[in-house]
Amino acid sequence: MTAHLVFVDRPTRWAWAEIDLTALSHNVRVLRDRTAPADLWAVVKADGYGHGAVAVARTALDHGAAGLCVALVTEGVQLREAGITAPILLLSEPPPEQFETALRARLLPSVYSPDGLRALAAAARRVGTDAEFHLKIDTGMQRVGVRVDDLDALLDLVAEIGEPLRLTGVSSHLATADEPELATTAEQNAIFTAAVRRCESHRIAAGRRLLVHLGNSAAALAHPATHHHMVRSGISLYGVAPGPAIADRTGDLRPVLSLHARVSYVKPVRAGSSISYGHTHRFAHDTRVATIPIGYADGVRRQLSAVGGSVLIGGRRRRIVGVVTMDQLMVDIGDDDIAVGDPVVLIGRQHAEEITAAEIAERLATIPYEVLCSISSRIERVIRA
Ligand SMILES: *Cc1c(COP(=O)(O)O)cnc(C)c1O
Repeated sequence: MTAHLVFVDRPTRWAWAEIDLTALSHNVRVLRDRTAPADLWAVVKADGYGHGAVAVARTALDHGAAGLCVALVTEGVQLREAGITAPILLLSEPPPEQFETALRARLLPSVYSPDGLRALAAAARRVGTDAEFHLKIDTGMQRVGVRVDDLDALLDLVAEIGEPLRLTGVSSHLATADEPELATTAEQNAIFTAAVRRCESHRIAAGRRLLVHLGNSAAALAHPATHHHMVRSGISLYGVAPGPAIADRTGDLRPVLSLHARVSYVKPVRAGSSISYGHTHRFAHDTRVATIPIGYADGVRRQLSAVGGSVLIGGRRRRIVGVVTMDQLMVDIGDDDIAVGDPVVLIGRQHAEEITAAEIAERLATIPYEVLCSISSRIERVIRA
């Protein structure tokens, strides 16, 4: 199991992350405004994208989120153990042997396979409860979800199994919502809408209102037609655009996480000398170098130096020199007046300068989701309310 994040008032290391819950509550309100009258469900999988699932969940619920979404049964159980009573949706079908734990924790599973339906029903009989679930339909993502061609057979199976199964929602997931110019989202929405109608008209749904949901953050921001009854929003809650093509539609969302350190060592280096493992960087001039006690085991990627990565010290960008090591990295500080203990920002704002998760993601040819989720449990989190 993944290690849980550690929350502290004062970090024990000269490297830590700060979680701004005021920014988060602001973002929840902004997104609620964008998605209303549809409900907003906060996606807090992967320990709230590295922000801390429990703290994020509480803040989101306090500011109007109607429910929570997680990927894993253990993630849902963690929220229940923290005393959270709001609805919690499992975004994917759990392994069959996990349904019982899921039901005991009152998690709402997404199901889309015959074996999943049977395992859910069997678990519900053992636990002695109803088995509410959402049916997930594949409308083009091709990751998980019942294929549209197999939908009627699966609905018939739900009817055949009968009690204790109780279909209460229908969902799907968008593949390209972060690229608003593509027609794919509208096509997926049309396929989904038709499939929902088939679910609603099946006898298992007779007379009941199903909770219908398709959209993620990108859909919340750029595709109102996909909102249906609720939107599952993750990355934008954390104040980060789902992709560069809709960065201009994020309005005034505010980044929730910032990554900080302090300078641990400063020394002069000679022209012609080299630095870090493999001596990949050679200094052209005499200069000074500051060491920062954070490395790839903390989630700062090893190749960040090779792609022009930098940190902020004294309100200015300082290039990373040499490969990032497991626990430390080095930056060129020239003749500037920088000393041991000086504050360093790796993600966030310092004076007029800012380094965003999106900028780091672009350098590393990835997405900001991965940058945030990579910040490891070795980095203590400090909550700023
Ligand atoms: C992760 C996930 C989301 C949230 O996506 P964001 O882009 O972070 O808003 C929504 N739905 C499903 C099925 C997911 O897996």
